[in-house]
Amino acid sequence: MTISETEPAAVVVRRLRDQFDSGVTKPLSWRLAQLDGLSAMLRGHARDLEEALAADLGKSPTESRLTETGVLLEEIRHTRTHLRSWLAPRRVSVPWQYQPARASVVLEPLGVMLVMAPWNYPVFLLLGPLVGALAAGNTAVLKPSELAPRTAEVLARLVPRYVDGVEVLTGGVERSTELLRERYDHIVYTGGGRVARIVMTAAAQHLTPVTLELGGKSPAWVDGTTDLQAAARRIAWSKLVNAGQTCVAPDYLLAPPDVARALEPLLSRAVTRMYGSDPARSADYGRMVSTEHAARLERLVADSVAAGARVVVGGEADVAERYVAPTVLADVAPDSPVMAEEIFGPVLPIVPVADLDAAIRLVRAGEKPLALYAFTTDSGARERLLRETSSGGVGFDMPLVQASMPTLPFGGVGGSGMGSYHGEASVRAFSNAKPVVRKPLLPDTFAAIRPPFTGLRRALVRRLF
Ligand code: NAD
Repeated sequence: MTISETEPAAVVVRRLRDQFDSGVTKPLSWRLAQLDGLSAMLRGHARDLEEALAADLGKSPTESRLTETGVLLEEIRHTRTHLRSWLAPRRVSVPWQYQPARASVVLEPLGVMLVMAPWNYPVFLLLGPLVGALAAGNTAVLKPSELAPRTAEVLARLVPRYVDGVEVLTGGVERSTELLRERYDHIVYTGGGRVARIVMTAAAQHLTPVTLELGGKSPAWVDGTTDLQAAARRIAWSKLVNAGQTCVAPDYLLAPPDVARALEPLLSRAVTRMYGSDPARSADYGRMVSTEHAARLERLVADSVAAGARVVVGGEADVAERYVAPTVLADVAPDSPVMAEEIFGPVLPIVPVADLDAAIRLVRAGEKPLALYAFTTDSGARERLLRETSSGGVGFDMPLVQASMPTLPFGGVGGSGMGSYHGEASVRAFSNAKPVVRKPLLPDTFAAIRPPFTGLRRALVRRLF
């Protein structure tokens, strides 16, 4: 246990604020050194992290590399390469009325940040925001999720050894509540909407800005113009990574009735190709984070079947083992239980709809999702989906990757969150964009705008503005 874990949050935050106020975090060299430290930690302790992720979520080492440490290393590399140019003051043009003058925008760090992460990608979602926080010259308190305790413990032990200006505080709701009483200069929260409201309420007491990365039901539209087998493979993969506990996973499929029927055997085969006929025995298939979570999914499937859904593949669960089989449900009605909440598990409902119009209506009837996917070769359909629906991000023919590319901003809209980050978007989100103007005293071109506004001056102001 590190000291900061037992210290009052107020003391930890004060220490980080003093460090920020000392100015050490501002030079580019300090920022790059911390990014290098983080990178060294990820490379040097890959095994520790993989073991922790396997214990918490049954993730295979390869999947951990792919979806946690690998994407982080790429985020760090990209940020490291471009940070100098992102931080350079940006000269902007000066309108003729203000001439002669110079104007620029300078990014300055905000101060102390709080990053609160969920359990599903407990490394990527804690350290991803940290990359941006450090690159922008901030100090940060990290609060890992108590629901991935092994990973939290490893990160609390390692991060302070490799990175300066960062403290990791582990613990449960009590610790989060204590942390939220303190004043920060920015909070990044990733998780569900219920806690997001608690976070935003706490932030409001100090007028602290927030980035909220939430979830929701991300739809995927599939029509008959596409290669259904190829689409089914991508859909099955993206749904079953991390056993479905992915905020940007396709939550449900929308398809015309004939396509919906054609997808059934293709999805079933795609599942078997990846995880064999008994996924419980596959080393590559993960587990639910908790028995409660497994029980919730088991119930959700049973209730949906009772409401008319049909199991195409899977349907089994072993709650004590935190196992839920990859499950595809067909003939799912829009008002089925499985459509009433974010699934966040390996259950994929296929909802038949008459056409694209009906699909768009259904999407628009719910909260704005974190992601929207479509598998179609019809450019008109893609155009309509882009224009007529709103979502955090869009993936055509490829789910998930919009959330991992460091060159794209990632975030939600409406019910799926506010603000975005990753790469340059992080540096902008976690900095103050400070406008700086310099206008020489001479020539005094603004003499004309000072009262008294007699005839000539009045005419001049009217002409200038
Ligand atoms: P969680 O239960 O681990 O909670 C997240 C954080 O909130 C934890 O650090 C926890 O300590 C804290 N917390 C929990 N209860 C609290 C309380 N009462 N007061 C103060 N703090 C509290 O995670 P979760 O909410 O189960 O995460 C799953 C959700 O996160 C899903 O809805 C998913 O879609 C969403 N998610 C979003 C993204 C994204 O990037 N947009 C990524 C992953 C997950």
